[in-house]
Amino acid sequence: MENKLKLGFGLMRLPKLEDGSIDVEQVKTMVDLFLEAGGTYFDTAFVYEGSEEAIRKALIERHPRDTFTLATKLNGWRASTKEEAEQQFVTSLERTQAGYFDYYLLHSIRDTNYPIYEKFGLWDFVREQKEKGLIKHYGFSFHDTPDLLDRILTEHPDVDFVQLQINYADWENPAIASRGNWEVARKHGKQVVIMEPVKGGILAELPNQIGDRLKSYAPEASIASWGIRFAASLDGILAVLSGMSNIAQMQDNLSYMKDFKPLSEEEQELIRLVQDDLNSLDRILCTSCHYCEPGCPMNIPIPKIFGAWNMYKQFNKKENAISNYNINCRLRNKASACIQCGQCEGACPQHLPIISLLETVAKEFEG
Ligand code: SF4
Ligand code: SF4
Repeated sequence: MENKLKLGFGLMRLPKLEDGSIDVEQVKTMVDLFLEAGGTYFDTAFVYEGSEEAIRKALIERHPRDTFTLATKLNGWRASTKEEAEQQFVTSLERTQAGYFDYYLLHSIRDTNYPIYEKFGLWDFVREQKEKGLIKHYGFSFHDTPDLLDRILTEHPDVDFVQLQINYADWENPAIASRGNWEVARKHGKQVVIMEPVKGGILAELPNQIGDRLKSYAPEASIASWGIRFAASLDGILAVLSGMSNIAQMQDNLSYMKDFKPLSEEEQELIRLVQDDLNSLDRILCTSCHYCEPGCPMNIPIPKIFGAWNMYKQFNKKENAISNYNINCRLRNKASACIQCGQCEGACPQHLPIISLLETVAKEFEG
């Protein structure tokens, strides 16, 4: 399993038109640029709304099937029965018309949902699809501790690869454990697909005082490039996924990944300084994945609230942040409406203490 270009095209945050639908024409241009640069790895999921259909139109209907590889994912914890979970595989095949999946993943495994994947027998299910030739390689994406990863890889030694959240901000963060999980995967001899190398965009827009450190070292390099190159410099990497949302991001990513150079020792040292800078900030490291929102009984716009808080911490302009907060909560509920049911914390791949963070925000913005 080797990709010429280590960059993978993540299809979670595709460009949108004004009416909210995916801008397929722009995606076609992005797909063509990616393939021309030697890219092959495309990553979607059953739960990325409209993404599987969009990639059918932009890629599968326009390019020979053997010129790219396609990954998608089955989300066991969004299904209420084994049949419903298995149906996702059939639906993904129908939506994409890909014929088969080069990479197929059990989606976003963590301690709270691992038993569901076991109960529904989904490991056997994907193995059977592989035997039928409908899946070439299977693996899982993972958001938990190195101990649990070690256990899963011991219980399921035949998985072909794992997908991990790896970025320099979370390298030593115990809630994400980028380093620990990467080490466990490599100990088991598994190749790694990296997700969130720029932490949902957080590491593409660093606060000025931190970003300036990188800019003064390499004025031409984008801030995001440091996150992607950090991830791609590790060994055993099958692909580093970047969830690109427009042509400019694609062009930027290709500019340094086409002829990829791993970080030098001097550059690694600079990243260590940035890690220290980030640790000293009082920001909420929410990636805006929205996994916490659908189940919130109080309809609280959690990631938007955290976005307003980060604006406050980054620019120190409390009035602007409160006004942003009020706009985002206008048609929904504010942080103080939280009834502490805990649903959101069970769904958050970043393991954020959402309840206490909302309390802090409510005190500061509503008090
Ligand atoms: S704990 Fe609060 S924010 Fe989280 S789901 Fe429950 S009500 Fe919503
Ligand atoms: S709080 Fe967690 S689950 Fe919710 S959007 Fe942020 S990172 Fe995602």
